[in-house]
Amino acid sequence: MAQGRYNRVVLKLSGEALAGNMGYGIDPSVIQSIAKQIQEVVELDVEVAVVVGGGNIWRGMAGSAKGMDRATADYMGMLATVMNGLALQDALETEGVPTRVQTSIEMRQVAEPYIRRRAIRHLEKKRVIIFAGGTGNPYFSTDTTAALRAAEIEAEVILMAKNNVDGVYSADPSVDPSARKYDQLSFLDVLKEGLAVMDSTASSLCMDNDIPLIVFSIMEEGNIKRAVSGDDIGTIVRGNQ
Ligand code: UDP
Repeated sequence: MAQGRYNRVVLKLSGEALAGNMGYGIDPSVIQSIAKQIQEVVELDVEVAVVVGGGNIWRGMAGSAKGMDRATADYMGMLATVMNGLALQDALETEGVPTRVQTSIEMRQVAEPYIRRRAIRHLEKKRVIIFAGGTGNPYFSTDTTAALRAAEIEAEVILMAKNNVDGVYSADPSVDPSARKYDQLSFLDVLKEGLAVMDSTASSLCMDNDIPLIVFSIMEEGNIKRAVSGDDIGTIVRGNQ
């Protein structure tokens, strides 16, 4: 299944990936090691756009389950992603990687607003772009943001970095020892089987726009580089197979 190197990728980093073993907040050593891995990829001349999650700080669903208005709780989640985005920018610039943060909710003092053509220009100039603030709309997720931005900037693939699992399994491998890891899948399988890869809105968007997804572990150093190089790691999910 090995294929050539990708030239433009969207890397989806969940909030959980930035929290490391702490499970919440931002672990500076973890974020620095992720920044190093991204720097290795930029050195290969690959254009990298990162979509950051916010679940390590706040999740809208959790807030609304405790009685908060869902839209308000979701806006708080979107703000959480901005904090993660700024932390990642700081770590990347420490590694000497020019980086721009763009937010879907305007906050001019801290980041640029999301402007598609400007984002593409940054990528062409080999700047890493961080998309923060999700889609800017409640009731969506940052997985859907990754699918949407990938379609908009014509990325060839979404790299979904996980910190607790190394691919897609038939069941939760931490609970069910008989869980089987898939090498490849279709988005239709993901939707039909209800596999916990990404939410159904995000899966449909990837399927409809034919954007492949690679799910892999970020805990193994060098894995982002392997993924962009087209090595067989993790699970690849495609539109049809
Ligand atoms: N969110 C939202 N709209 C978006 C993206 C995110 O409302 O387009 C909110 C939502 O409340 C979500 C939170 O931001 O729970 C954090 O994002 P997500 O759960 O996707 O982060 P991750 O699981 O990747 O850490």
